[in-house]
Amino acid sequence: MKIFIRKRKKITSFILTVILLTFLVSNLGYAQIYTAKSELEVGQTYHGFKLIEEKNLKDIESIGRIFYHEKSGAKLLQIENEDENKNFSISFRTPVDNNKGIPHILEHVILNGGSEKYPARQLFFEIMKGSLTTFLNGMTYPDRTTYPFSSMNDTEFSNLMDVYLNVVFKPSFYKDENFFRTDGWHYKIEDKDAPLEYNGVVYNEMKGALSSPDSQLYSYIMRSLYPDTNYRYISGGDPAEIPNLTFKELKDFYDKYYHPSNSYIYIYGKLDILDKLEFINENYLKDYNKIKVDSKPGIQKPFKDKKELTVEYPILEEDLEKDKTFISLNYALDGKPDMETTLTFGLLSQIVFNNPASPVVQNLNKAGFNNISSVYFSNSAQPFISIVAQNTNENMKDKFEDVIYSSLRDIVDKGIDKTLIKSTLNNMELDQRQQYSRDAMTGLLYGELAMLSWLYDGNPLDGMDIDGALSKLKVALDEPYFENLIEKHILKNNHSSVVIVKPKKGLMEEKSKAVAEKLEKYKASLSDKEIEKLIIDYKELQEWNGTPNSEEILNTIPTLSIKDLEPKIEKIPTKEKKENGIRTLHHPLFTNGVGFLNLYFDASTVKQEQIPYISLLSQILGKVSTEKYNYTQLPIEEAMYTGGIQYSATVVTKQGSNDIYYPKFTVSSYATEENISKMLEIMAEEMANSNFDDKERLKQLISNIKSNMENQLSSGPINIGIIRNLSYFSPVYKYNDLLLGLSYYDFIVDLDKNFDNKYKEIVKNLEEVKNTLLNRKNMLISFTGEQKEYNVFRKNIPTLLKVIGDKDLNSQKYNFDFDNKNEAFSSTMDILYNFQTFDFTKHGYNYSGKMKVLNNILQSDYLFNEIRIKGGAYGALFGIIDESNIFLGSYRDPNLKQTYDVYKGAIDYLKNFNMSEKDFEKQIISSLAEYYVPTSNMAKGQTADYYYLSGITEEDLNKELEEILNTKPEDIKKFAELFEKGLKENHILTIGNDEVIKDNKDLFDSIRNLVK
Ligand SMILES: [Zn+2]
Repeated sequence: MKIFIRKRKKITSFILTVILLTFLVSNLGYAQIYTAKSELEVGQTYHGFKLIEEKNLKDIESIGRIFYHEKSGAKLLQIENEDENKNFSISFRTPVDNNKGIPHILEHVILNGGSEKYPARQLFFEIMKGSLTTFLNGMTYPDRTTYPFSSMNDTEFSNLMDVYLNVVFKPSFYKDENFFRTDGWHYKIEDKDAPLEYNGVVYNEMKGALSSPDSQLYSYIMRSLYPDTNYRYISGGDPAEIPNLTFKELKDFYDKYYHPSNSYIYIYGKLDILDKLEFINENYLKDYNKIKVDSKPGIQKPFKDKKELTVEYPILEEDLEKDKTFISLNYALDGKPDMETTLTFGLLSQIVFNNPASPVVQNLNKAGFNNISSVYFSNSAQPFISIVAQNTNENMKDKFEDVIYSSLRDIVDKGIDKTLIKSTLNNMELDQRQQYSRDAMTGLLYGELAMLSWLYDGNPLDGMDIDGALSKLKVALDEPYFENLIEKHILKNNHSSVVIVKPKKGLMEEKSKAVAEKLEKYKASLSDKEIEKLIIDYKELQEWNGTPNSEEILNTIPTLSIKDLEPKIEKIPTKEKKENGIRTLHHPLFTNGVGFLNLYFDASTVKQEQIPYISLLSQILGKVSTEKYNYTQLPIEEAMYTGGIQYSATVVTKQGSNDIYYPKFTVSSYATEENISKMLEIMAEEMANSNFDDKERLKQLISNIKSNMENQLSSGPINIGIIRNLSYFSPVYKYNDLLLGLSYYDFIVDLDKNFDNKYKEIVKNLEEVKNTLLNRKNMLISFTGEQKEYNVFRKNIPTLLKVIGDKDLNSQKYNFDFDNKNEAFSSTMDILYNFQTFDFTKHGYNYSGKMKVLNNILQSDYLFNEIRIKGGAYGALFGIIDESNIFLGSYRDPNLKQTYDVYKGAIDYLKNFNMSEKDFEKQIISSLAEYYVPTSNMAKGQTADYYYLSGITEEDLNKELEEILNTKPEDIKKFAELFEKGLKENHILTIGNDEVIKDNKDLFDSIRNLVK
């Protein structure tokens, strides 16, 4: 009963940098230092591993140990602490010298091809079917490949460690080219008159990954700054070059780099290390002799002059070219890519380029650049920093550079405003203060931190000395620390580039024509017999992929037994009370002196025509000036005293219903005990005294909202697609679509386009909606923290209540038209997203935990096989939402009609459902995985609020768990009838490639462009 649809943050290719930034700060004020009693001695050898260094890591309450396996040359890092969520990973340095995607395809075939001891096809997915892991994946970086997983279960951890070591050192993909053909690329041809096509999982994955201009921008920045090194290539693979890869090249690459001497093993959490060292030595490393592997990434010689690179991305014929260009200014940094550099430049980019209070940003805004962002990128031997302007034009290039230079010169000469530095540092400290409560990702992230220096022959434990790095940064409060960095790494740095990514019409058609012609030419060169052979090869590959693993092979995969598990519903403490007459929930949980506040305002009092304004309001509050503060000061105030103030528009649904729902306007923040009163003051100031009547600022904000939505639409329109599809019949999702879906996008496009005419009306609506929403009769307070923090909060509630209205307002009755029918949204993406939804309550079915098992089975068995393995799409989705709706989806999919036929095929699959007892047990086990995920106390408070608001009781949760545990294969079979009824309603929606959509136009009632 999790909330499936959440508001998504802007996701860019730089996400890892972003994660590290929120993470990489000191842990202040938490005194309970973990001291494991260490019986290990530096210099001694344990099971072939020599202990090189041991260090007490106070900041993260852990002990760090570096080992070296003397016979094989393998390196091993251990971080020992009390975390039950253990993590393991093995990484190899895998530099590339072409765009054929070798390390990426290798990563896929290693995990899918099985191994000597575990010879199952699609091994990785077979494991997932029955696992409780909190993380399980393989990842390809520009210069390395990493295989990580996390689990809270000891048996599972040991089992999977063996599986991961077996697949990387003794893989089976080697023995059968079909693994390479399935995940890499192959020719698709069904009969001799059909056109020849390319297909393959990675081929389609990369088509999708490189679809958006911002991901192209990133690979071109690398190419511009490091033209003589491995970093000029796309390690994931360029779809234009993937078909040039041969199976032999793939095997040669494996032979060269997958050796213990080129490996980095990482073990994290609460476990017996000697036991693990013995296992790894005895079963794997003792059989290898050290060799020399030449895998060190190349270093680019600094430039004498700045380089410039212009590239094009496709837009549709009807689109406007104006304001669709990206300009970036990039600097390769002279320094090691370690944690200290990451922290320093992450902070610098935050202070100088990503903060509206920075004079650089203000000058850029004045010069007409409304959408500025900056990133620091650390996953390469030479890190770089980029400043990017979006929604601009090529002729603005010189101006962009001039403004940046003159503004930076100015702040270097005058000094950066110290309050700007102080507030950013404070905010990071507060963020770190919450790290006491580890969550599902903690072990994984420490591993990433270690890699920043380890991969480049540095000491991995340096990446853990966060205290040292932070105290160095505090120097910046007294000395011109950042100013000197700007001078050295930006103003006086010639190792830099300007990369322009601009739109071009017809480029998509040009590209697909070129591929089609190439394939046509190739086909024409073949004899009938050779074509016949391609058809047979393709059919054989399909058959090969359709052949399931034998029972005997599946039995080699280690599994857990349900008998050993005791899943439980965790009770989250909640005290319901009245404070100053307001309904209040207090979750008394340990939060290390921080108080978390959520205010929920009932939004059902807002008039129907004003619904989109609730969302707009949430995106504008805190970003416009108030009586007391200019909008440029607000972020400084927020960061100085709080963890930031968030406004959001959401809907809580009554489970099992599409008609009953509770719209909410939510205000959230957190602060340390001593800053709680200040937090409430700033909140009250923003809620009561925001000035919407600043024409320039409002225009800029609306234009930013529009381009952020467009980035989201072109990089991953899954949530938005599902919401829209459900809105064909569900009032809840009709409302959601207006709030954060495509209707909201249309609303924003209209405001942006007609801003001058609508300006007065916008201001008036924002005022009205704000005054309707912020009302104490509509309000629920939730606070997470111990009694001490709660008492401080309680005393200060009047600060907030002073500014909140006290009117009697009625809930509105909304009447929606349901005239959106099967829609297709065209774009220049190379691939497609296909959705289908229906309401199962309409057909007399009630939600039960059995559907969780159904969900797992359809997604991991049927849809996975048909859509990914046979269809070549990157992924298939299935979900049950709000206990009333079902959705099916595919992403980065080369197919359209074929995928909808696969959805229909679910009926027969269920009718004939047949699964061995053991496989069925695995499906039940993985349905239980969500009961084994560690969550922070802050997140626990929010979950409890959600249960409260939607009326979910502990009894409901226990009932659901019982139902999962008692699901039988016959129950799954019975769902066939439901699918027959539901799919017949034929509610479908496709987003993606314009040409494929036009070829299938008969399936849709309307076709429009995705982005306006
Ligand atoms: Zn991949």
